[in-house]
Amino acid sequence: MRWSFQIGKLFGIPIRLHATFLLLLLFIGIVGSRHGGGSGAIFGMISIVFIFFCVVLHEIGHSLAAVHYGIDVKDIVLMPIGGVSRMEDIPEDPKKEIVISVVGPLVSFGLALVFLIIAQATGQSVSIRQLSIYQANLVANLFWINLILGIFNLVPAFPMDGGRVLRGLLSTGMDSLRATKIAVSVGQVFAILLFFFGIFFNWWMALIAVFIYLGAEGEERMMALRTTLGKSPVRLAMITDVHTVSPDQTIGQVLESICHGFQQDFPVVERGELVGLLTKEAVFEALHKHQKSALVRDTMQRDFTWTTEEASLSDIFRKMVAEKLSVMPVMRGRELRGLINLEQIGKYHMVCQEADRTSSRQRGRTNA
Ligand code: ZN
Repeated sequence: MRWSFQIGKLFGIPIRLHATFLLLLLFIGIVGSRHGGGSGAIFGMISIVFIFFCVVLHEIGHSLAAVHYGIDVKDIVLMPIGGVSRMEDIPEDPKKEIVISVVGPLVSFGLALVFLIIAQATGQSVSIRQLSIYQANLVANLFWINLILGIFNLVPAFPMDGGRVLRGLLSTGMDSLRATKIAVSVGQVFAILLFFFGIFFNWWMALIAVFIYLGAEGEERMMALRTTLGKSPVRLAMITDVHTVSPDQTIGQVLESICHGFQQDFPVVERGELVGLLTKEAVFEALHKHQKSALVRDTMQRDFTWTTEEASLSDIFRKMVAEKLSVMPVMRGRELRGLINLEQIGKYHMVCQEADRTSSRQRGRTNA
């Protein structure tokens, strides 16, 4: 993620801090100094660091559950509005999604209990009236904040943990896209209510509401794409009429092919065998360096990722986005069968959606 840097590792999972988090720390420092001078600023900043450590533990809960089910966790990113565990995939099995989602709030409740016990043992009051991060009552603050974090995350509003639990529960009785749509709608209604509540009572809430609303929308779009791509194989969306180039051609010649045809990336074939991949980025970079006469051989990528006709389109889509690949040759053994890129996947998605819409309109008419 841009603007984020690694601050450490926990259970082998990298923890990253988003640069805007430092702005939050500064903001808390300024507000704290207004509340209680220098000590207010220091208590405020110390509280925030501890609160975010608890957020990390909450996210570690999700991450370890995911790892248990064999899902890779890339990292945990801390932002001013909370933490995110970035996983490679959402589990297909609703039960796994429910478990992964529930573990985070359970960790928060566990932490609340620990801080309550510490408060009792040391004779500190946990009265909510004293809740202020700018005062020296760290244990009471952490008790309340973890309790609120656990409860707030269980609200059945997407994309919060409760929303995921709701989607998981709904998915056991219907297809996952419909379940996502319902969970997203609930999430958005909640976000709108929270937004208005926030405007009158707490601006921070209003900001969180905006993120919930947008997050819910993004999740629905991603799910729609995954569902239409579904189990479709790459072969249905790949370009089959592939124009190839030879290693001895010049960049200038390839440029002409780009100008006169539809294709922008080219497999490089020598004596019937695929030896490289020439992307349009590489062509434009060569042009930029005034190397129109450079050979394809010296410009092409020799080390590239390829796929097969039967690979799942939705897996390939995720891989291409995650690894920032613009194009992949499609192979059968050593034989080049086609070319797949994000544009083709987008086009295939659009065609499928249109076909879905037409067939549901026709169903509607027969029902009427
Ligand atoms: Zn969570």
